[in-house]
Amino acid sequence: MAIARMCESGADAGKWYTVILGQNGARRAGYCATGCTGHESSQRALAHYLQFQLDRETDLWFDRREPACECEICGARTTLRARLGRNTKLIALCTHHQSTKSLQTLTFDCSTAPVHIGSLRDAHRGRRSD
Ligand SMILES: [Zn+2]
Ligand SMILES: [Zn+2]
Repeated sequence: MAIARMCESGADAGKWYTVILGQNGARRAGYCATGCTGHESSQRALAHYLQFQLDRETDLWFDRREPACECEICGARTTLRARLGRNTKLIALCTHHQSTKSLQTLTFDCSTAPVHIGSLRDAHRGRRSD
């Protein structure tokens, strides 16, 4: 699970980074793990991580085995799917909206921090939809 966390000690104290919480504690994730000098806010830290996911961990595909769902943006019925990051929920996007730009839009629309990136779809809809 990826969250924004402020560094509390050392040279980076007061700076925000996106970290992944694991069994052995938190470690910096995505671009925040590689030469990042930290961010002024949690939202900027999450945006930095989101950019990493958009660049490296975005999947867009057509799922012929699944029933059509409503596009997350316009509501059109579609069997096209997208996923941002690993082990996250699928997002339904129609032909017009199946792009990394749409994923970015969906994610930034509800940029309240700290937020679990995997739950952005639910946050966007304002309710749990399991
Ligand atoms: Zn960063
Ligand atoms: Zn659409």
